[in-house]
This record gives sequence, structure tokens and C-alpha cells, in this order.
Amino acid sequence: MNSKISRFLAKSKVVTPCLVVDVDRVEENYRQLCQSIPQAAIYYAVKANPALPILQRLVALGAHFDAASWEEIELCLEAGADSSKISFGNTVKKASSIRHAFMAGIDMYAFDSLEELEKIARNAPASKVYCRLTVENKGADWPLTDKFGTTTEHAIELLLKAQEMGLDAYGVSFHVGSQQINPQTYAAAITKVATVFTELAAQGLTLRMINIGGGLPICYREDVPDIEQFSDVIQQAMAHHFGKNLPHIIMEPGRFIVGNAGVISTEVVLVSNRGKVNDPRWVYLDIGRFRGLAETEGEAIRYAIRTPHDGSITAPVILAGPSCDGVDILYQKADYHLPLQLMAGNRIELLSTGAYVSTYCSTRFNGFKPLEEYYI
Ligand SMILES: *Cc1c(COP(=O)(O)O)cnc(C)c1O
Repeated sequence: MNSKISRFLAKSKVVTPCLVVDVDRVEENYRQLCQSIPQAAIYYAVKANPALPILQRLVALGAHFDAASWEEIELCLEAGADSSKISFGNTVKKASSIRHAFMAGIDMYAFDSLEELEKIARNAPASKVYCRLTVENKGADWPLTDKFGTTTEHAIELLLKAQEMGLDAYGVSFHVGSQQINPQTYAAAITKVATVFTELAAQGLTLRMINIGGGLPICYREDVPDIEQFSDVIQQAMAHHFGKNLPHIIMEPGRFIVGNAGVISTEVVLVSNRGKVNDPRWVYLDIGRFRGLAETEGEAIRYAIRTPHDGSITAPVILAGPSCDGVDILYQKADYHLPLQLMAGNRIELLSTGAYVSTYCSTRFNGFKPLEEYYI
């Protein structure tokens, strides 16, 4: 576990559950990515963790930001980001939010439908727009396929329309799905993008930007390919399709930047088998699905766990949250084993919980207070 966070947890009497994030680790991750893919401008996906200390650190490092709402844009501006460094990357935006963004100087907007394009043309005239393509998400633990994106044919049609509407038809985006462990999905997606570039060039429209989205994985319970494997595939695909004429490349990492910088400290509330002698023990924690662990839905993201009894004999467990909701079960099928000595009152840690946790916390379900957060 991150030693700075260990020291913090050992010396501060924090209440549980809480999230502790090492902001220096966020910086390291950002720098590592800049080094691995120097051709790409990094637009941090704010939704992964919008905490002010993270945004401020990234502003200081010169990062760009991918915001999903006017509210996220406001957070970036408050953190000191320049409006020229913010992209409004959600394909589903309220007209009023687009207007607010336009007034604040945001000039880059995503779309995947004619209806959204019309909204952007009305509320953010002459802005840069990019069309999101649907791409293969196989290999992603947290897919984003169905809800977003369009076909290459439709994208071509829409980008031509964008130009007719007086917008700046800037480029194309995709997202290979979050926690994507197969680097080849990027190559396949870039091939699709290249088709759009080529077909539009033949019709006299030169696109200038490729947004390769997020998706880079981090290590939870299982190892994942390292960043170099992704950057190699991405760079080779770009070179293959665009040669020396590389368009402007941007990427929108969220999980990769903040995920492994955070740890949750949680208390074991109860260990029991409720009379079902042959069943695994149930371990109830003071954090569950409704205090931030939304990504345990479908047991998609499987966090690694540290306990004070690590190294001793373990047995299978089912992990659940503390609320009165029957769906508040974290892991039942994912084959978790924890020490037999584990008991109520023990504090345990859920590792790599810096992304997609803090903001998923409900406000007061069952009266439980939101997760405490510490940025160190
Ligand atoms: C969520 C999201 C991201 C970040 O994805 P990660 O898998 O966390 O890197 C990037 N771009 C868009 C449009 C998103 O919705």
C-alpha cells in the first residue's frame, strides 16, 4: 500500500469510512502518461474525482480538462483552469449548460446526434465540435458502448452538417470502455476514425483532431498490461493511418490519473453466517454500494483488500455494505478470501479507490453521512 497513506492512517484518528488520496501520486501518474504518449494533450476526465486539490494540482501541471456538465466546468474554472483548456465532452447536455459554457469561453463540444448538434449550433455558435463514434468495448470491465456514439456513416453526415451550420467540424472521438485491458481496442477504434477522416477529406472537409477518450486500466486484484503496451499500440495505429500528418491528438484519462492514488479505510461492522453453517462468512463493512462503491455493480470493479491479519489463514467471504438495501452486496461471486481472524471493529483498506468513488456516495441513505475525504 502507498506508504504516505499508510503513515497518514496510522497517525491520524480518522473516522471511517473515509477516502485518502495522495495528490503527489496523481501528479506522478499524470507525468508518466505525458511521457508515454507525448503526442497527446491530456484532458483529465473530471468525473473520476473532481476534488479541488486534484484539479488544482493538474492545473499547475498544465493539464486540460474533460467536463461532463456545466457544474464540472465551474469546478475546473474555480481550480484556476483556463477556459481554453476545457472540453465539454458529454454528448448529452442541457441547452442552458451549453449557453453557460459558451459565455464562459468554452469552445469545444462533443456530440453524437443531429439534435445535439442543433443545440450546440444555437447556444455555442462557431465552436469546435467533435463527433463520438461507437467502438468495440470488449475487454472493458466498465463498458460505455450502448449509450454513446454513432456509426462512421452517420458521423460523416453529421460533421458535414456541422460545417453547414457554421460550426467548426473539428474531429472525432471514441471511448473504448473504462478499465479496458486490451490495447488492441484502441487500434481498432483508430482505424474507424481514419475512415471518417479519409471520407471527409474526399468531400473537401479536413478534420484536425482525434480524441482517443479514456479507458486506460489500473491494477486492482488482477494485473493489467502496462501503459507502454497501450502507448505502443496507439502510436503504431496513428503512424499507420496518418503517417507524418498526425492530427491533434487528445486523450481523456480518468481512472489512470487518480485510481491508484486513493485508499478507503473502512471498519468491519459484522462478521456472521446467520446460522447457515456451510455458507461463507458474510463480512459487512461500513461502506457499501451507496457510500461510493457504485462500481461494484455487477462485481465489475474488484478492489484489492488489506486487513490487519494478512498472512494468516483465510476462507471465502461475501462482502456487503451496512445499509438496509438487499442490493447492497459488494462481492458474492468474485471469490474473495479474507482471514479467519477478521472480526467486527477491525479496520481494513480497499486499495486503488481514488477514481469513481467519492462522488458516487449518496447523501443520507439510511442516515449514513457521506464519505469523508482527505487529500494529502
Ligand atoms: C468517463 C469518461 C472518460 C474517462 O474514462 P476512464 O476510463 O476513467 O479513463 C473519458 N471520456 C469520456 C467521454 C468519459 O465519459
